[in-house]
Amino acid sequence: MTSVSESWSDGLADKTELSQTLLQQSHQQRLQEQQHQRQQLRKTMENAIAASGLHGRRYHCPKCEKSFSQSYSMYRHYRYECDSLPRYQCPYCGHVSKWSHSIYNHIRKIHPGAKVTLNKLY
Ligand SMILES: [Zn+2]
Ligand SMILES: [Zn+2]
Repeated sequence: MTSVSESWSDGLADKTELSQTLLQQSHQQRLQEQQHQRQQLRKTMENAIAASGLHGRRYHCPKCEKSFSQSYSMYRHYRYECDSLPRYQCPYCGHVSKWSHSIYNHIRKIHPGAKVTLNKLY
C-alpha cells in the first residue's frame, strides 16, 4: 500500500517537474523569439534610416549641384556664393568665375605661359 502511494506521488512529482521544465523551455523560447523579433525590428529600422539618408545626410543647394554636410554651410553657399555674380575675370579671354583660384587654374590650362593674374570685376 505504501509502495503504491509512494510510486504514485513520485510519478506526480516527476510529472510536475517535467511540465515545469517544459514551461521553462517554452518561456525561454518565447524570450528568444522576442529577442529575435526585436533584432529584426532594429535591423528594419536601421535599414529604413539608412535608406532615408538620415546617416550622412547632405544638404543640397537648391540652385546648383553642390551638397553640404551642414545646413548652415549650404545656406552660406546659397546666400553668398551661389547667388553672387562672378567677381573674377581672365584678362586674356574674359572668362569669369566666382573663385580666384579657378581663374588661376584656367590661365594655367588655357593660356599656358601667360602671367597668372586676374581682373577683379568689383
Ligand atoms: Zn549653389
Ligand atoms: Zn582666359
